[in-house]
Amino acid sequence: MTSVANNQPATSTASTPKVPKTSQEIEAIKQIIDNLIKYLKNDKPDTEKISATPIGQLKIVVGNAINLLLDPDLNTITNDDNVKKMIQATKGILTHSNKEDTDFIFYKEKLKELTKKPPSSRKRKPTASPDTATTTKQFNKQKSIKKTVAATEEINVPTKWLKWTTQLFEPTLLIPVTPEKASADIQKLIEINKMSGALKAEITNIRTREDLIIVRLSTQRQLTTFIKEMKKIDPTLTPEIPEFRDPMIMIHDVPIGIPTEQFIENIKKFNNFNKNDKLVFHKTSKNIDPEKENVILRVSPAIRDEIERKRGSILYLCSKLYVTDYFAIIQCKRCFKYSHTKFTCGSQTMCKFCAKLHMPFQCDVRLKPELYRCPACLQPGHKAGDSSCPEHIKQIKFAVALTNYEYNYIMLK
Ligand SMILES: [Zn+2]
Ligand SMILES: [Zn+2]
Ligand SMILES: [Zn+2]
Repeated sequence: MTSVANNQPATSTASTPKVPKTSQEIEAIKQIIDNLIKYLKNDKPDTEKISATPIGQLKIVVGNAINLLLDPDLNTITNDDNVKKMIQATKGILTHSNKEDTDFIFYKEKLKELTKKPPSSRKRKPTASPDTATTTKQFNKQKSIKKTVAATEEINVPTKWLKWTTQLFEPTLLIPVTPEKASADIQKLIEINKMSGALKAEITNIRTREDLIIVRLSTQRQLTTFIKEMKKIDPTLTPEIPEFRDPMIMIHDVPIGIPTEQFIENIKKFNNFNKNDKLVFHKTSKNIDPEKENVILRVSPAIRDEIERKRGSILYLCSKLYVTDYFAIIQCKRCFKYSHTKFTCGSQTMCKFCAKLHMPFQCDVRLKPELYRCPACLQPGHKAGDSSCPEHIKQIKFAVALTNYEYNYIMLK
């Protein structure tokens, strides 16, 4: 991600004023319309032409058409007759092509939504909930959950997704620490936990804006005891009341070099998100493909809902990008335990495939998943960082407890 304007912060989501289309853009749009209408013969779908066209090309044609039909300025570029023909041609291609294909199923759904409204009233959705600000609540109260749609129907759920039930928010403390002190402080807190008997605190840390240690207990009384003991051992540790934050998503395989503001504006436009919905740039992460990167955004609960409904995808230009949930989980790259990094790790290097003390490239089971053993939980059947790992799921739980969103599924890849 690069920032286009220096006077604007990279995280700005302020909507840019509507820019009139350049003559080049209008030419390109007319080209798309012409290409599409070629799939009609006397106002009927040209089945011969459709079956002679490779499926990949049909997807591009339909994808372009749907994006264009979503454009609120479409009527100023072309006439209603052409819009009608575009819809006819798109429908024709969709009914005469592979019915099992997930892209086509997605496009069909989108087209159905589009054609419900008469062409002249094609507008953006009305504002449902402009208030997406993070709320701070007492930590013994249940989360205030903002959700705009009913539970997602359980159809076409990607196999990698994790079914999720949100639990009651447990008494929780957040203790801010510096990265250098984090593991020493965790050690101290574990000592407090041991000394104060049956507190059964769960202690971890996650990185959000700064390093935080999270302590969760099962009752309010245990929490009070914990704070008292903590003050005795280290008065510099100061707990905070947790703040619920909007969910984060990771958009995969984004071409590098797109200015942040432009990327966010386009995402809003192509997906017909509300103007007031929030998409805030968080950071990028590396992709295996050097030409691409993964973009992490903090989004309004309503946007997270919409992406789940689209089964973990988002439209960008004429393609679909894969989206997963993101939780800022810290896992050590040396020993593969959670809540610390390799920079503060005191352990020996462990193998992520078999949990033995050698480097991963020396591992003789690295190509035999049935022989994997996880170094984080020491259970057989998966490697480090796998989403089925009980230790990993525990980390997701910690993060979800601080998120202003009720998850039906955790979207994974
Ligand atoms: Zn480690
Ligand atoms: Zn190994
Ligand atoms: Zn594991």
